[in-house]
Amino acid sequence: MVYKKITMNQNKKIALVAHDNKKRDLLEWAEFNRILLAHHDIYATGTTGTILESNLGLTVHKLQSGPLGGDQQIGAKIVDNEIDFLIFFWDPLEPMPHDPDVKALLRMAVVWNIPIACNRSSADFMISSPLMDGEYERLIQDYEDYRARKVG
Ligand code: PGA
Repeated sequence: MVYKKITMNQNKKIALVAHDNKKRDLLEWAEFNRILLAHHDIYATGTTGTILESNLGLTVHKLQSGPLGGDQQIGAKIVDNEIDFLIFFWDPLEPMPHDPDVKALLRMAVVWNIPIACNRSSADFMISSPLMDGEYERLIQDYEDYRARKVG
């Protein structure tokens, strides 16, 4: 398979999202990792971002609230190479009005091969990885064949 490389800078653009029952978990995690997070650009869905900003004292680029389109905004930023890391504490025990958006966001993260953590232990492993401290060449499938496919 042919791959292309996308460089992730030392300062990473990290998206943080938590469903309501997981917001406390994400806040605790972010408080514990505040010094590490301060080196990076933080993006978040609206409510998550407001909570993080007021408790951490870090600047957070806040998007719409998740159910109002915030998850889709993050997905679009992944496509445009404006997000390179996703921490998404989604709630496995509650159906959500925006479940299709959640699935779409996770799908974009896989299509563009960005690291994703969907629970606290994964987030711990990711944030403490030595790869956080430097540039990283992210391999993505070269989708040129897909774009050039014959249709009709
Ligand atoms: P919120 O959105 O941070 O605005 O609550 C999160 C989500 O439900 O995706």
